[in-house]
Amino acid sequence: MAVAGAKVEKSTDARDAAARLAEVMARIEAARKSAEKPAKKTTLVAVSKTFPADAIRSVIEAGHRVFGENRVQEAKEKWPDLKKDYPDISLHLIGPLQSNKTRDAMALFDVIESVDREKIAKAIAAERDRTGTCPRLLVQVNTGEEPQKTGIPPSETVKFVSYCRDTLHLPVDGLMCIPPVDEEPGLHFALLDKLANEAGVAERSMGMSADYETAIRFGATLVRVGSAIFGPRVAKKTS
Ligand SMILES: *Cc1c(COP(=O)(O)O)cnc(C)c1O
Repeated sequence: MAVAGAKVEKSTDARDAAARLAEVMARIEAARKSAEKPAKKTTLVAVSKTFPADAIRSVIEAGHRVFGENRVQEAKEKWPDLKKDYPDISLHLIGPLQSNKTRDAMALFDVIESVDREKIAKAIAAERDRTGTCPRLLVQVNTGEEPQKTGIPPSETVKFVSYCRDTLHLPVDGLMCIPPVDEEPGLHFALLDKLANEAGVAERSMGMSADYETAIRFGATLVRVGSAIFGPRVAKKTS
């Protein structure tokens, strides 16, 4: 663990992260150029889960400002200091939210991409009523209807978005999906794009390191890229 305030030379890792960031940005530009109908804008969400603040700082210093984390607790340990140093950071929650973490999540995140059930929508609305502020919200859609995944089923998405917007008055402005690992992601991106049109929301958060260029072809406005920028995440030892 790094000593707080210690001044260190830029490590090879930091230079690597900056170079990989530049490569991902270039590939996003190229994918947008070759796409028939790209979104007006595609924002890169650099997914920093499992990576320490030092690694994140080098990507911030390379000029990037939009980041994603999947766990509230982990984000609370890393981001308050980083956000103090860089107030123009936009932090996205991309993992499931438990209702007892709603208050913490809403205090820290600028965007919550994982509104995935009525209970959470209600908890967010209650906290918004208490504080008077609310992050921007996306509804997570379980496009593959996988039992182990959270998210709203495709057939209920339009109804759920209008419930959030019209009944709870929540600032929902997009949809997010994580396609099944063993299926053609393009089918899921096309479905998310169609549902976003039907629901009348602008943002489509889709595509990760392996398939963000495909997602751009299907109109992604947000791509969530982790390992292609930060390097491989260290898996828990099994032996
Ligand atoms: C980890 C994660 C990503 C990034 O995955 P990579 O394959 O490392 O790019 C994107 N979206 C979600 C929801 C994640 O949990």
